[in-house]
Amino acid sequence: MTATTEKLIHYPMVIGGEKVSTGSEDILEPATGQVFATVALGSAADVDRAVTAAKQAQPGWAALSYGERCAALMKFADALEAHSEELCELESRNAGKALKLTVNGDIPFSIDNLRYFASVARRQEGAAAGEYVSGYTSMLRREPIGIVGAITPWNYPFMMAIWKIAPAIAAGNAIVLKPAPNTPITTIRLAEIALEAGLPEGLINVVTGGVEVGEAICTHPDIGMISFTGSTRTGKRVAELASPLIKRVTLELGGKAPFVVFADADIEAAAHGAIVGGFQNSGQDCTAATRIYVQNDVFDQFVTRLTDLSKQMVVGDPFEANTDIGPLSSQAQLNKVAGYVEEAKQQGYQVITCGDVPSEGYYFPPTLIVDPPQTASCVCEEIFGPVLVIKRFSTEEEAIELANDTPYGLAASVWTLNVQRAMRVSKALQAGTVWVNDHLPIASEMPHGGFKMSGVGKDMSHYALEEYTIVKHVVFDMTGDRRKGWHFMTFGKEGT
Ligand code: NAD
Repeated sequence: MTATTEKLIHYPMVIGGEKVSTGSEDILEPATGQVFATVALGSAADVDRAVTAAKQAQPGWAALSYGERCAALMKFADALEAHSEELCELESRNAGKALKLTVNGDIPFSIDNLRYFASVARRQEGAAAGEYVSGYTSMLRREPIGIVGAITPWNYPFMMAIWKIAPAIAAGNAIVLKPAPNTPITTIRLAEIALEAGLPEGLINVVTGGVEVGEAICTHPDIGMISFTGSTRTGKRVAELASPLIKRVTLELGGKAPFVVFADADIEAAAHGAIVGGFQNSGQDCTAATRIYVQNDVFDQFVTRLTDLSKQMVVGDPFEANTDIGPLSSQAQLNKVAGYVEEAKQQGYQVITCGDVPSEGYYFPPTLIVDPPQTASCVCEEIFGPVLVIKRFSTEEEAIELANDTPYGLAASVWTLNVQRAMRVSKALQAGTVWVNDHLPIASEMPHGGFKMSGVGKDMSHYALEEYTIVKHVVFDMTGDRRKGWHFMTFGKEGT
């Protein structure tokens, strides 16, 4: 598969089953910095229109049996799979991702995620009915929220869209989704393919744009839930905007994952794990292994091996088969990453730059920053590029303290061949996912979401499905007694 050079294609929004082309925004290819497509630019009025369409679609969708909903989602997944070559190419062009990542990871994994939610759509159930009050039978229903508003980031555009859409519609909701302004294309295609696959018009609406559209979603009175993935800074704003209307909010936010290597670890495995965990998707990953803590005895050995492996990483054209690291997603992101590394150099920290990068496009080489202080901004803040910070520790207690010394808590890993230590440390690390002797594997069946300022709520798994429903307690009077009375309220009856 190679990048195509056809004339610019314009991608419209998808609202109420229609292709809507108000406004136009250039979309740049990170590998070249050149415009490769244009996309419609939405507004608050388009959000309103999308919500109206979603309100029309949702009751009929929610009324389908679970089996019918499952079949419709499976058909949607099959249609996406039939378009997967196109989706992989578009995602790599738009987000600058190495093609081997979109082909082997992003697109097939997202389709698997959709199939998972199609299957659990059939398994939705409340707790069994029972008599919790004498003479009454209670049952629990899980009901859809209605209209979900979703906002996604630029680092995994297709995957994040599926992580929102799949559980939302599996649970019987309709959705209005805003992709990140610079990476909207596969999300638009996804909504178009949903229509081709027969999903109802208005069930999945995509409104493009930036802050205006995002804030209109957060404040719209008919949207009952906001499902947001992005930075912690924007997440706080989203929560603020949603709170006056007491909307349900799930927030999947930033991370600064620790990667803790003990002297008794398989050092070769750990060094490879740091490369994959730190540099996948050019380091633009919320769970990326960014803070590598290594026990003193093996510190120098580890830095040497990590440097060797980093120099073997191929940085270049995402469409070349052997490319490991594509460009960063935008000029702004490149400037941000370069700024952190420049600051580290100015502070006098040891910075190891591993290789050259193409002169055109938003490329940044794999970079290691060795033993800066724990308070350095490169240790504390999310850089979101191919930059690993490596620091020393001496004891297990110190490792845990350093690893947890962050406002974030999305992911972490511990590397040791001592099983008791693995148990102790994985329990002590404050993160939503902790890997032992690996870093990054995720599964559709398992929850993903943060502790602390990395967020609230879960993506993936049945926990995510629950986020998109509301529990209702339904109580049946079994007695037929017309003189109603319960506990202290004994209207029409004698008290004791
Ligand atoms: P961002 O917060 O800048 O933007 C995310 C989305 O929010 C975009 O669609 C943006 O247009 C929109 N937005 C911006 N301002 C808004 C506002 N005032 N109201 C409503 N919407 C607004 O994040 P980003 O730079 O696109 O993405 C990178 C961040 O996402 C990183 O911090 C990364 O860790 C995080 N992320 C987290 C996860 C996770 O699962 N926890 C997954 C992927 C990315």
